[in-house]
Amino acid sequence: MIDIKSLNRKELETWIQQKGYEPYRGRQIWHWILKKAVPSFEQMSNLPKKLRNLLKEEAVLNPLELVKVLESKEDHTKKYLFRLRDGYYIESVLIPELEKDYFTICVSSQAGCAMGCKFCLTAKQGFKRNLRTSEIVEQVVQVKRDMSKPSKLRNIVFMGMGEPLANYDSVIKAIEILIDPYGMNFSHRRVTVSTCGIVPKIESLGKDCTVNLAVSLNATTDEVRSFLMPINKKYPLKELISACKKFPLPNRRRITFEYVLIKGINDSEEDAIRLINLLRGIKAKINLIPLNPAKGLEFSSPSWDQILRFQKILIDKNLTAIIRKSRGKDILAACGQLSGSYGRGED
Ligand code: SAH
Repeated sequence: MIDIKSLNRKELETWIQQKGYEPYRGRQIWHWILKKAVPSFEQMSNLPKKLRNLLKEEAVLNPLELVKVLESKEDHTKKYLFRLRDGYYIESVLIPELEKDYFTICVSSQAGCAMGCKFCLTAKQGFKRNLRTSEIVEQVVQVKRDMSKPSKLRNIVFMGMGEPLANYDSVIKAIEILIDPYGMNFSHRRVTVSTCGIVPKIESLGKDCTVNLAVSLNATTDEVRSFLMPINKKYPLKELISACKKFPLPNRRRITFEYVLIKGINDSEEDAIRLINLLRGIKAKINLIPLNPAKGLEFSSPSWDQILRFQKILIDKNLTAIIRKSRGKDILAACGQLSGSYGRGED
């Protein structure tokens, strides 16, 4: 069986041609599955009956099962819980951008995660499996379909569960489908891949597509970073920063550095100064994320004063440093809290 939502346009057109149809039939199918989000091949009314039957026999639409939608009363962030065919759970979050007229979707790239970051709840679940391309694309299709104004979905961030660069091929193909004008038609400028720092894959990403890069930095010394994020033992700060310096950036684009502020661990003035030095020479913007405390985490967030002090040191050196306030706290939609409360996809 063909997992039809895992095919990029070229693959779909090739497949349809092998079956004796014109390539434009592939684009018609895409229209139905990506734009109209129809749940069955039967509904693809402009396809010949014979082709619809062939699709029914040889292809699966492979939709995710939407289990639950929670909406935050505080800020209208929405969390979508999906069940995969083999029973694992993943989540996507739809975030209304404050004081703006558009939305961002935060998608998952893996069920669970193998990276083991100490402050992250997804890490606590361990690794289940990589998502297929179709399972990544489908998150966007279903969330978009649920919106009252689907055209307001503007940004896609790979900041949900999992490490996108550890599921590289499926993520790249999902991006191809998401930005293809005949596909989901998102602007590549509006897609951001966030990584804990898998250095060789950062280099590949720079070659393979033109999306935005976000790096979860979270510490300014190898000692602290290796303690918080085991991946740092394999790819220490020097290599990570060097990969960032080489990452190709079109005009006016910058790399986002995420920095989760953790009380007593990485929130000192010395840290702020080291951060400035580390990022020297990189076109960077910094997202300061106060740690979302949660049951099972041994850390807490610094005081608001301390957070503002940290930010001010960066701003005084002309760095762009934004404090990313937690969104959807009441529905546990915040970073690293995805699906943790839902049976954790345990086998
Ligand atoms: N694996 C990727 C993407 C998923 S994590 C990555 O590491 O970037 C997305 C972001 O959530 C990362 O910047 C991570 O540092 C942050 N995060 C994880 N747990 C958090 C927590 N408890 N509080 C605040 N931010 C957290």
